[in-house]
Amino acid sequence: MPERSESDSRKLLRRLRDSLALPGKGQDRLDRITHLIADSMGTEVCSIYLFRDEDTLELCATEGLNKASVHKTRLRLGEGLVGRVARSATPINAADAPSEKGFRFMPETGEEIYSSFLGVPIQRVGEKLGVLVVQSKIARQFSDDEVYALEVVAMVLAEMTELGAFAGGDGDGMATLHKQPVMFRGSTGQEGASEGRVWLHEPRVVVTNPVADDPLTEIDRIREAVGQLRVSVDDLLSAESLDKDQKQVLEAYRMFANSRGWLKRMEEDIARGLSAEAAVEKEQSAARARLEQVPDAYLRDRLHDLDDLSNRLLRILTGQGADTGAEMPENPVLIARNIGPAELLEYGRKLKGVVLEEGSVGSHAAIVARALTIPLVIHAERITSEALNGDHILVDGDTGIVHLRPDDAVARSFRDKIAMQAKAQERYTSLRGLPAQSKCGTVTRLLMNAGLMADLPSIEGSGAEGVGLFRTELQFLIRNQMPKRDELAKLYARVMEAAKGRPVAFRTLDIGSDKVLPYMKPQDEPNPAMGWRAIRVGLDKPGVLRMQLQALLRASAGRDLTVMFPFVSELSEFTTARDHLLRERDREAALGHPVPETLRIGAMLETPSLAFAPKQFFDLADFISIGGNDLKQFFFAADRENERVRRRYDTLNVSFLTFLSKIVARCAESETQLSFCGEDAGRPIEAMCFAALGIGTLSMRPASIGPVKSLLRQVDLREVRAVMDDARAAGLESVRPAMMGWLATLPE
Ligand code: PEP
Ligand code: MG
Repeated sequence: MPERSESDSRKLLRRLRDSLALPGKGQDRLDRITHLIADSMGTEVCSIYLFRDEDTLELCATEGLNKASVHKTRLRLGEGLVGRVARSATPINAADAPSEKGFRFMPETGEEIYSSFLGVPIQRVGEKLGVLVVQSKIARQFSDDEVYALEVVAMVLAEMTELGAFAGGDGDGMATLHKQPVMFRGSTGQEGASEGRVWLHEPRVVVTNPVADDPLTEIDRIREAVGQLRVSVDDLLSAESLDKDQKQVLEAYRMFANSRGWLKRMEEDIARGLSAEAAVEKEQSAARARLEQVPDAYLRDRLHDLDDLSNRLLRILTGQGADTGAEMPENPVLIARNIGPAELLEYGRKLKGVVLEEGSVGSHAAIVARALTIPLVIHAERITSEALNGDHILVDGDTGIVHLRPDDAVARSFRDKIAMQAKAQERYTSLRGLPAQSKCGTVTRLLMNAGLMADLPSIEGSGAEGVGLFRTELQFLIRNQMPKRDELAKLYARVMEAAKGRPVAFRTLDIGSDKVLPYMKPQDEPNPAMGWRAIRVGLDKPGVLRMQLQALLRASAGRDLTVMFPFVSELSEFTTARDHLLRERDREAALGHPVPETLRIGAMLETPSLAFAPKQFFDLADFISIGGNDLKQFFFAADRENERVRRRYDTLNVSFLTFLSKIVARCAESETQLSFCGEDAGRPIEAMCFAALGIGTLSMRPASIGPVKSLLRQVDLREVRAVMDDARAAGLESVRPAMMGWLATLPE
């Protein structure tokens, strides 16, 4: 076989492109291509295997093997040499293929007479599409140059597959990619089901010209684009408001952007005939394949960095910015690798669902999704590479399952499920005017959590008796500058008006941890969840706290006002914050402004320390609200955002419930009103247990009020309490199994 020169490669790519431009069915094109490649590489065989589904490769075209085996021969991922190339996404080059580990002989193809084998993956940016193979009778190792040339050809095939060049025809040709139904199994971030159309947070860049005529022009283009990229990364790095993590990521970007090897490899790809864009993607795919084999989490993170950088470079080259001009479809379902709470809020209620590749249940983005009552599925791996803007999508937040481009049968049964949920919701609506009175006569107050103006209409629909937690930071997060006092006062006044005299507990700004205001200098902290956040920021920088308190007092205009301070860890923090509020109230009065007739001042109990505070704290607080999301993470030392550890500890763990009982007792001793406003209050079984422990007020997302009320009305809390006591006496770790068993015995 002749050694391949750069110009041979370019010639082959051009022949490929011309052949693809000819009219014809997908299968005809595949056949022509295998012929061309075998001819140009000087091998007897060239075959193309493409994925039929996630695990199955199918021989789709061949020159040299038995034609009758086309669309018949199939291999599983990892099976035989072809399956191994696909799985590892790296080439296999064997002079004596039958003696290679994992070789699987496929008699129907007639390949037994061929000794040497070279297979390279057909892949596009981490998306495995198939395998390209050449074989010949002489036992010889292919040269590095030949391997490289075949990889370049595979890259063009990948782009062509993506563009649908092999689709259509007699049914045996391959279906276009991104056209088939795909199911993703993620985890629940927020319950609920929805149907809509895909909207990509970061749209894919479409490369339409994988083959270039003039390498010199392409080399100029890539150099210029890399130059621009370097400048933009340097600009980003010189921004003042960077925290340690952002800096680290950008440093990694800079390292990649300035790496000579990266540019050199792309230039070599171009010299072989690829366009600048295809060269970027080829290197992106190769780096992905390499890094995916690396078990080290830090290095795998760098994979994202390199991906981001390659995407930026592609955007520079193609001029396709994040804003591609595409119009958001109706009923948009947002697809992203991950998203912060501020970005999610920007989309707001127009979203019908959110599907993330990463994310976590305890994150504030998930809380925002909950506040917006949007079904959220997290950990839907690879969905950003599979979904295209406008694709039909079904999101099942209850099971964590997502159907992309579903077939009719799936869509029909899914719609049935949505209809059933609507029916259940109707049943809950009928409970709206009734109290959450349990069989024993205890009435639990059910309030709702809110944070956006748009949440307020739910107060009527859900039957909530008020707002138990108004997360004021959401209003700060959606702006790109610090809101002014008067602006906030107007907004808070509208919230109170919408509540129509029902109480609203305004929680002062809870920023820090994962809630980073875009206009505040981020802190470089080793552990932000336990860092400078919430009331700690408010007390150290009282200007913002006082401004917010003034806004609340002005908004109340003489009406009753309820304020609570987040993340209080000790008595003195509460007394200082409370003093600020009382001073502001007196100042308002001195200015002649009306002040609230009743001012209720409470604290959120989110750190275990506060449960052990001096009695004076419980006496002084007008009410205490348990922030279970934070309290649980600190009780179990399990990061609420880390899925791996978060799930490990059950809220119905006996130790945690015993701890809650202690808080109930301390509040009872001081006759302090106690509520629970973390996410668990919205889960019916948890809510029932909290009520049985004596927590008289529960605050939850509006959609949970119906299900929680329905269960509370069916049970006798004394019996629930007895089940908990028995479980504790029996030394069980969690009361959940016993509680589920007991619930199953209740009449329908
Ligand atoms: C909590 O921690 O339970 C809580 C309600 O506050 P957030 O989730 O906003 O931190
Ligand atoms: Mg909290």
